[in-house]
Amino acid sequence: MLGGYPQAMADATTEPIAKACVACGRTMRWRKKWERSWDEVRYCSAACRRRGVRQVDRELEAAIVRLLGCRARSATICPDEAAKSVGDAGWRLLREPARAAARRLQAEGRVVITQDGRTVDPSTAKGPIRVRRA
Ligand SMILES: [Zn+2]
Repeated sequence: MLGGYPQAMADATTEPIAKACVACGRTMRWRKKWERSWDEVRYCSAACRRRGVRQVDRELEAAIVRLLGCRARSATICPDEAAKSVGDAGWRLLREPARAAARRLQAEGRVVITQDGRTVDPSTAKGPIRVRRA
């Protein structure tokens, strides 16, 4: 057993399944240069490797879960609400980190990210997103 996929798939010539960057939560597509190290690849970019996941990022994840827990099962929140609850006056600096936190939670299957009420792929979604419980 390699990584999270069956040996049969690892032996096949098909690409391994995509996985999420541990920092930004965006989907990483397999690349040839990762052929030998795919199981160890955790970050989509040098920027994500440098930034990593900080204490404030975990606080944003917790804020999203907490805010959703206070609402109806099907209610949505804006990631900005988590940024405001964690960042106080400086919350605008946390807007993108809050979106990344939502993407990480989505990659873990804990939340769903929507736009105009429809589930979207947060790796490519542009514009405002909403988050609801999975
Ligand atoms: Zn990344």
